[in-house]
Amino acid sequence: PVSLVGHSYEVLIGNHLLEDAGLRIRPHLPNGQAIILTDDTVAGLHLPTLEDSFRRAGIRFHTITVPAGEGSKSFSRFEAVMEEILTHGIERGSTIIALGGGVIGDLAGFVAATALRGIPFIQIPTTLLAQVDSSVGGKTGINAMAGKNLIGAFWQPRLVLADTAALGTLPRRQLVAGYAEIVKSGLIADADLFAWCERNGQAVLDGQAEALGEAVRRACAFKAGVVQEDEREQASSGGRALLNLGHTFAHAFEAEFHYDGRLLHGEAVSMGLHMALALSVRLGLAPAEDLARLDAHLHALDMPVGATDLPHRLSTETLLSHMKRDKKMRDGKITFVLLRRIGMAFTCRDVATNDVRALLLDEGFAP
Ligand code: NAD
Ligand code: ZN
Repeated sequence: PVSLVGHSYEVLIGNHLLEDAGLRIRPHLPNGQAIILTDDTVAGLHLPTLEDSFRRAGIRFHTITVPAGEGSKSFSRFEAVMEEILTHGIERGSTIIALGGGVIGDLAGFVAATALRGIPFIQIPTTLLAQVDSSVGGKTGINAMAGKNLIGAFWQPRLVLADTAALGTLPRRQLVAGYAEIVKSGLIADADLFAWCERNGQAVLDGQAEALGEAVRRACAFKAGVVQEDEREQASSGGRALLNLGHTFAHAFEAEFHYDGRLLHGEAVSMGLHMALALSVRLGLAPAEDLARLDAHLHALDMPVGATDLPHRLSTETLLSHMKRDKKMRDGKITFVLLRRIGMAFTCRDVATNDVRALLLDEGFAP
């Protein structure tokens, strides 16, 4: 359960939930009508199963398919989807169903938040990243020319249905990317989850059903706890802001590759986690043994850790300028989430640019 004031919902996690998704979803549809939004990759893999289950449950639905990829989180795609559902004749009780990864969840959620000033919305995440992170918490949105996720709304789903069997078709790179967010959760506030990852990470990346189910359950429980405490990211320290551990670095790496698939968000996060802990050690805040432990885990699973894992060499000054532009910046200082140790993160507003510069140079980035 995710218990929020006025809108609590459940996250159902299981193997092969998609087959009878219709029966599970039916009670949540105010008027029995649904609009499924998916991308063309997922449509070829999992849409028929969902549509079948909807037919068997007597749900009236209309399906909209958009191109796979970050490009669909755009104003033009948002407009096209919105016009299509409005032309199709939706009512206040019509429910948007997001079937896909974080891109579909973010786009569908934003459409739901704004159509008729808000209609119900259900998430069926099909990437590991979406199951452990983006489908829970109610952040929805699209990208602007000026940056990612700059247009959006908080809009909570009525239900999240995470079928771990759907991850069976996911390429390993995408599994690794989602797994990085699980490691992140452990580092932030759950040393026990991190230790679990050390024992079971390989099984998760091998796609073993039991390990995947447990990983998704633990990561969702963690995220639900954080979101319950700070639904709209208003806490001045701690709260949702801690979920940005590693992300100031990650966003800077990602920006250099223009979100074109050469570097996935989760791959950037894997490196960002290493950088955040390395920065914490450099500032004398965290023990070096913890950094060695994190690096050993990331290396064991062949996850990206350092400058040489990137498609090409990046420059320190360019990365710094990206970090300064990140929307988490206040009063001219970069806010970082740092670690005291594995399992204890905190926000720090006054990290000197020079320390970050020295770290990046030490880590092998070009001047
Ligand atoms: P994605 O939705 O682009 O999915 C990655 C790729 O996997 C796509 O090509 C997709 O078609 C494909 N795919 C999806 N499910 C599949 C399956 N079961 N089998 C095979 N292929 C499948 O990307 P993502 O990594 O899921 O999500 C990234 C997005 O999520 C970003 O836009 C990011 O900003 C957003 N995000 C949002 C939040 C939030 O809180 N709202 C949090 C984190 C990330
Ligand atoms: Zn992330």
